[in-house]
Amino acid sequence: MSVIRRLEEAVVNRIAAGEVIQRPSSALKELLENSLDAGSTQINVLVKEGGNKLLQVQDNGHGIRFADLPILCHRHTTSKLKEFEDLETINTLGFRGEALCSISFVSHLTITTMTAEEAHGWRAKYKDSEMEPPGPKPQACVKGTTVAAEDIFYNVPTRKRALKGAAEEYNLILDITSRYAIFKAGVAFSCKRQGESRTDITTLAAASRLDNIRAIYGPVVAKELMEVELANGEEPGPHLGPEDGVAFRLKGYVSGLNYNSKKTVLILFINGRMVECVQLRRTLETLYTSIMPGSCKSTGGAGARPWLFFDLILPPRQVEVNMHPTKREVGFLHQDEIIEAIRAGVENHLSASNNARTFTQM
Ligand code: ADP
Ligand code: MG
Repeated sequence: MSVIRRLEEAVVNRIAAGEVIQRPSSALKELLENSLDAGSTQINVLVKEGGNKLLQVQDNGHGIRFADLPILCHRHTTSKLKEFEDLETINTLGFRGEALCSISFVSHLTITTMTAEEAHGWRAKYKDSEMEPPGPKPQACVKGTTVAAEDIFYNVPTRKRALKGAAEEYNLILDITSRYAIFKAGVAFSCKRQGESRTDITTLAAASRLDNIRAIYGPVVAKELMEVELANGEEPGPHLGPEDGVAFRLKGYVSGLNYNSKKTVLILFINGRMVECVQLRRTLETLYTSIMPGSCKSTGGAGARPWLFFDLILPPRQVEVNMHPTKREVGFLHQDEIIEAIRAGVENHLSASNNARTFTQM
C-alpha cells in the first residue's frame, strides 16, 4: 500500500526553489535586478564554469543594513513591497522577496555588503534561507553588495544534470547581461570568466544605448540600425485602466534593409522589465521576410532575420509583466492592436529608408 506522508519542509523548499531558479542565468537575472533596484551604477558579473561553479554579482548600490542580514534570505522578506495595492504602481524589478531565498536553497550563498552609513562591511553565508552561524563577519569593503552563489544545484541532482555545459550556460549569462547592459544605459556593466583578464562585456556609465549595442553586438550591427519612435493614444500612465483603449510609447532600434542575419535578436523591455513576446517576434520576422524576399538565398533560405530592440511603455494597469517568478512571457491588454501598430510603424521606417536609398542612388 502507498503511504501518504507530508514532505519535509526543506524538501518542499528545494523543489520550489528549482522552479524559480532553473539555471545559473535565471539566478543572474534576479541578482542583476536586485543590483539595479539598489541604485547601482556599476555592476560586475564574474563566472566560473558557466555559473555552475560560481556566479558572482558585485554592485555599488545602497547595500544592505546590518540589522536586515539575519532575515535577508527568509521567504517573502523584501524592502520593496508593503501593501498588495502597491503592486499596481511598483517601480522596482523585485517585490516578492523570493530570489535570494530560492538561491540559498540550491547553492552555497555568500553575501558581502556595506551601506554608506557604516565604517566597514559585513560578510554572511546562507543555507536553506537561514544565515549560518556564527553570523556576519566584519569585512573591509566599499559601499555596495557582492552576492556569490557557488555550486548551484549541488543538492538537486536532477537539476544539476539538466544543466548544459559551461560554454552554453555562459552564453545564456552573456545574453541576459547584454540585454540589461543595453537597456540600462547609465549603468556600467562588465561580465567575465574567473581567471581571464579579458572581459566579454564592458559598457561605460556615460554611454548611450546605441554605444552599448555597438560595444556588445559590434559595429557591423550598430551601423545598420535605425532609430524608431512610436506613440499611440494617451500618455500610458496609471490613470488609464483596463477599460481604456490602446495607449503606448515605444523607443527602439531596428535593423534596416542591408542587415542580414540567420537569427532574430529581439530585446524587449515592457515597463522596464525584460520579457519575451513570441507573437511580436513572429509578426516582425514575417514583415522582414516579406520586405526582403531576395535575401532568402544569402541566408540559406531562412529569410532575413531582424535585429530589434524595443523599450515599450504601456499603462501599468493594462499589463501583467513577470508576475510569476518564472514567467518571462508577458501578457497585456490590446495585444493584437499594439503588435499591429508596432508592425506598421516598423514597416513605415523600413520603406522610408528604402525610398531614401533609391533616391540617393538615382
Ligand atoms: P526582492 O527583490 O523581491 O525584494 P530578493 O530575495 O531578491 O527579493 O531580495 C530581498 C531583499 O534583499 C531586497 O528587497 C533588498 O532589500 C535586499 N537586496 C538584495 N540584493 C541586494 C543588493 N544587491 N543591494 C541591496 N539590497 C539587496
Ligand atoms: Mg529580487
